[in-house]
Amino acid sequence: MSMDRRFRFCPRCATELVPQDDHGHRRATCPRCGYVHYRNPVPAAGVIVLRGGDVLMVKRRFAPRPGAWCLPAGFMEYGETPGRCAVRELREETGVRARLTGLFGVYAGFDDPRSRAVLILYTAERVGGRLVPGDDAVAARYFPLGALPRAIAFAAHRRALADFRARSPARTANRRKNELDNPSS
Ligand SMILES: [Zn+2]
Repeated sequence: MSMDRRFRFCPRCATELVPQDDHGHRRATCPRCGYVHYRNPVPAAGVIVLRGGDVLMVKRRFAPRPGAWCLPAGFMEYGETPGRCAVRELREETGVRARLTGLFGVYAGFDDPRSRAVLILYTAERVGGRLVPGDDAVAARYFPLGALPRAIAFAAHRRALADFRARSPARTANRRKNELDNPSS
């Protein structure tokens, strides 16, 4: 495991950090005060909101991956719960107010250049607001599950959408019907 090169000096006493082995991880450590720089993924939260079976997505304005689409989601603020973060990000990015209806899944994100992430994804239903893209979005709109945009910004969002599609009632109904039609398969 390589040491985090982004921090050279101790944030507590400004001594130059040195790599030190810690249970198999090389961590930037302060030889003077003992501070250890732990590098952890950042939790993010987001929502799947449907309208008539279509899923709400946001087109990104800023890097990383401007112009690509993603589910409404963002990094948690310090002191915020995952649920409040999900509802806040939705409101900021789309104008839509929603109520969470359940936890959909948790996904590891390895392809965001800002940080590795843990995406906590909820299902939610709209309770108000007006669909208007926020400052960091070029567009916000609903897509049919069978016709999602080709450019989706992050692998975790692609996997979540694939999982959601696989579990959606229409597909489940079709699978049940197939099983009934072909009991041996
Ligand atoms: Zn120090």
